[in-house]
Amino acid sequence: MSSKGWGVRGGERITAPGVSGESRMSEKLQELVVVTPEREVLREQVRFVLARGGLGELGVLPGHAPLITTLETAPLEARRENKRIMLAIAGGFMEVSPQGVVVLADAAERAEEIDVPRARRAKERAEKRLASKDLDIDIRRAEAALKRALVRLQVAAGGEMGGQE
Ligand code: ATP
Repeated sequence: MSSKGWGVRGGERITAPGVSGESRMSEKLQELVVVTPEREVLREQVRFVLARGGLGELGVLPGHAPLITTLETAPLEARRENKRIMLAIAGGFMEVSPQGVVVLADAAERAEEIDVPRARRAKERAEKRLASKDLDIDIRRAEAALKRALVRLQVAAGGEMGGQE
């Protein structure tokens, strides 16, 4: 609920993919590139990008005003016609420019690349650490690991964005 004007374009607030009439608008596309320090995760022509920035959810259609924002550990969704691409983003930055959308992520996986048992194990490890009384536990680190695991599980399950849990 922390959107502060993000996602507003032409007076229309993009509240959720598929409900704002974007399919009736012109079919202009934009390039979405997602890179991590390890690899290029995605390079695709897409119509719409929905990401969770530091100031809230951000919907980007072609021609969006240029900006740079941090990205939360959260799902990122891209759409083109009937195609929907879901990515798990483990924090980073996003730049919107006339050339397209570039995401620089600490880690990122496409939904189909996610190793679900591994994410479940990471979730259990983080939960155990958070539940332990050990004073040496780095709480922030365990919370960040738990968030990455939860986002991976959500994206692997085809989860929609929007939930802030
Ligand atoms: P783990 O404890 O399982 O390593 P992590 O959250 O500490 O998880 P990261 O540091 O975010 O892992 O990522 C390290 C590398 O492993 C990155 O390349 C990331 O894309 C990949 N990775 C992490 N978890 C998964 C997963 N469940 N499925 C596929 N790739 C993963």
